[in-house]
Amino acid sequence: MKSTVLFSSLALLCAAGSAGLAAPQRGPGLQMISIDVEGSGGTLFITPEGKSLLLDTGNPPRPGVVGKDTADVLADTIRSFGVKKLDYLLTTHYHSDHVGGFPAFLEKMPVGTIVDHGENRQPDPPPGSSTPPGAGRGAGAPSGGAPARPRITTEGYYQLYLKAIGNHKHLIAKPGMTLDIGSMKVTFVAADGQVIAKPLPGAGQPNPACNGLAGMADTGGEENARSVASIITYGKTRIAAFGDLTWDRDKDLVCPTNKVGKVDVYLMTNHGLPQSNSPALAAALQPIVVIEGNGITKGDDPARVKSFMESGRVQGFWRLHRNTQHPELDGSDDMIANPVDALPKDRHYNLRLRILKNGSVTVINERNGYNRTYKTGG
Ligand SMILES: [Zn+2]
Repeated sequence: MKSTVLFSSLALLCAAGSAGLAAPQRGPGLQMISIDVEGSGGTLFITPEGKSLLLDTGNPPRPGVVGKDTADVLADTIRSFGVKKLDYLLTTHYHSDHVGGFPAFLEKMPVGTIVDHGENRQPDPPPGSSTPPGAGRGAGAPSGGAPARPRITTEGYYQLYLKAIGNHKHLIAKPGMTLDIGSMKVTFVAADGQVIAKPLPGAGQPNPACNGLAGMADTGGEENARSVASIITYGKTRIAAFGDLTWDRDKDLVCPTNKVGKVDVYLMTNHGLPQSNSPALAAALQPIVVIEGNGITKGDDPARVKSFMESGRVQGFWRLHRNTQHPELDGSDDMIANPVDALPKDRHYNLRLRILKNGSVTVINERNGYNRTYKTGG
């Protein structure tokens, strides 16, 4: 009897092993994975039909950093769903923390169509300028004790990006353009500094939170303001993924009328940094679930978090990292994928969302399996 039990356990282990112990289930809903790329950009969507979209390719390779490079993290996560070729890769903008891993990623994973906003709008400063090339926050300062990276400007990353694209199919996103990816629909609401001219269906309400809202001169680098911003719909659920779109572009989208409408899931813009996430945007979107791709010391700004926490409908605020600068914001460790205080301890756990057609959204902390289900779409 004992040996039978042992044999059965072994058989189970082998079966699990052959499928990959950490292999997530693909169907029946849409999978959205906020991939831990250390405060850079990397969000994956896989439809029940197996169609895939990746938003951004994160930080450039950082030799000497403990753990895997961003491109490996992204490619391994995609493959863990049984996907061998990525259908769409959307680059929101050309800052190093969103495009730094692009050339290496293309070497590791076949990609169908590349989508972006077109030309880089943050050229190098003129020679002799007091601002050293790439010194803006948009250049992506190392966080969490990472070694310094080679200094490449935004224009430099853009040139590497263009070279890597080669013969790939290439689509320039325009506000109002839509993409059907399996049963998921992507609508671009902003790109290259322009926003949709008309409200999306069901939107267009006045937004009182715009009254008296100050402007914001600080963009963190012009490319942030040029981000491709998307509303993604699947069944009854609406998701906002705005890249690093800045405060003043938020205003164009949601002031004086809310052209976007409410959403259910909000991928916190710009890692939760203060140049984005205006109170008017929070009042317009009123998300139920917030997912923040922050770093150990990057993003998670107290005032911006507060705006969203108080926007009216938030039931779950999930983070990729503990924020060592603002521990008072953290809440339960179960809702933080990587509650570590230094980069060498980080094990790259992701937050995974399983979204069903009926509006059920389950967020899973891949570190410990802790999960909560929210009713959205109503
Ligand atoms: Zn960023």
